[in-house]
This record gives sequence, C-alpha cells and structure tokens, in this order.
Amino acid sequence: MSKIIYINGNFSKADEARVSPFNRGLLYGDGFFETMRSYDGKIFALNEHYERLSATANFLKIPLPFKCDELRNILMQLLELNSLTEIDSRIRMTLMRGEGAAGLFPDESAEAELIVSADAVPGDVEKIQRAGIKLSLLDNMTIDHRSPLVSHKTVNYMPGILGLMEVRKKGGDEGLFVNNDGKVAEGITSNIFAVKNGVVMTPPLSAGILSGITRGIAIKVARMSGIAIEEKDMTIEDMLRAEELFITSSVREIVPVISFEGKTYTVGPLTKRMQAEYKSYVKHVLEKEAGGQGE
Ligand code: PLP
Repeated sequence: MSKIIYINGNFSKADEARVSPFNRGLLYGDGFFETMRSYDGKIFALNEHYERLSATANFLKIPLPFKCDELRNILMQLLELNSLTEIDSRIRMTLMRGEGAAGLFPDESAEAELIVSADAVPGDVEKIQRAGIKLSLLDNMTIDHRSPLVSHKTVNYMPGILGLMEVRKKGGDEGLFVNNDGKVAEGITSNIFAVKNGVVMTPPLSAGILSGITRGIAIKVARMSGIAIEEKDMTIEDMLRAEELFITSSVREIVPVISFEGKTYTVGPLTKRMQAEYKSYVKHVLEKEAGGQGE
C-alpha cells in the first residue's frame, strides 16, 4: 500500500506528491517542522505541540493555516488512511513559507505550504528504552545559545546532520552539543538529563536548547512523583560525575545513556522510574482525553 501524506489541503499518495522547485523551504530553509507521537492512534500532547508550533510560526512570521482542532482532524484522517489507528506512530508536520519572487525577501501574500506524514514508530525504540544508547560529545560544533533560532525547529538541521555523521563514525547513537559558553546544551534531536545523588538535573532553556515537549513533561512528571529535579547549567564534568544519564524526545520518550566520553553508565533506578512514570502519565492523559475530560 502506498503511503498517504497530506499536502496543501489534499491527501495524496506520497510517491505522487510534489513540491514546487521554488518552494522556499527547499531554497532557503524557510520553514519549520514538528514531530509528534501517537499511541494506539491517539495523538499525545497535541496542545503542547500546537503551542510550540504557534510560537515558531509567530517568530518566523509564517501564518499558521490551521487551528489546533483542524490540525487534529488532519492528523486523525492521516492515521486512518495509513492504517495507523491501532498502533503507535510518529507524525511529522512541515510548514514552509510559500513561493514568491526570486530573492530572500518573502512575498507576504504567498500561502504557506503544509506537508504532514505519519508512519509506525520504529521497532528499535522499545529496545533502546531498555538497553540505552551511546552518547558522544560533538567536537566540531557548538550551539549559539544567544541565537533566538535555537528554540525553533526550523527546516535547517545542518549542524545536527553533520553532528550525526561524526557520531556514527565513532560508533555512537546520539551527539551532545555544548553551547558557546562550553555548557551542556542538548542532544542532536533530544534533551539531556543527568542524575547525581538522587537529584535529576537538566540544562535550563537559557543554555540554548529546544523547549522539548518530552523534557517539559518529564519535569512535570518528576515533580508530581516527588522526584527531585533541577534545571541548572551543567558542564561536561557534571555529566561525567553523574550516576545516570538519559535523553528525552517525543518519539523515543525517555532513553538511558550507557556511555559518554569513555565512561559507562548503567540503566539506573531513577531513569527506570522516570520511564515508568512518564509512560503512566501518557496513559493517564490519553484515557482522560478519551473520556472527554481533556487534560
Ligand atoms: N532538541 C532538539 C534539537 C530536537 O530536534 C528535539 C526533537 O526533535 C528535541 C530536543 C526533543 O524535543 P521533543 O521532546 O519536543 O520531541
């Protein structure tokens, strides 16, 4: 069965869908995206994702062509059309500023181009949640934490792409960016957490990171469960002194780190507890939403 995507108002076979050669996302990286996850066909944390993508749309001055409920309808239809209503899936929404005259200056009347696709959550996610991943420090690239762009998922992930190529060469799975002050920032596509003396730590937004939806929920879940959690600037030494490390992202949820810069870590008790609390929070929220009570 050919995969169905949503593109500019229509559902279409992915292999027949086309974007214009003058698409500004393609020409200039003039757009942004959002990655979400569904569980058994139910979209998790859509309001949080919508809030973040609205903030980015405002910042980039690309008008959003949908309200949250309209986006939900598109996503639900997309899951249905791709037979993803009974399984867990990852959903990617990309919004690009429409075509315009040649040159950088955008044409304000241009209509934004929207593409949404969905597929099953990769089979290795559960495996890495149990076994962990190898994290590697990115040597050649830092995050400019003073740039306002760091908090937006624009369609330019060149530092991450180059970073991942560097990481894979070293046999790693995920790379860690430090910021221009040498403080720990975030993973290539994840946020980072460390556990020391029973306290979970994670860099603050001022470290130049994406305000990860999973990061935010992990912090909330820790507080609700009585787990000590602090947002504080961290150094590489803090990470090396930590007893446990883990990363968060929407599709992978909470994944333990088993090696970093020559040090090995076990999948520790607090990481396991955070994983369990996170999963039960997701279940609770989705059940509540299914019962029509919202969050
Ligand atoms: N940081 C970056 C740079 C990312 O690209 C991502 C996800 O793609 C994250 C953090 C994790 O964000 P979320 O939990 O919203 O998926």
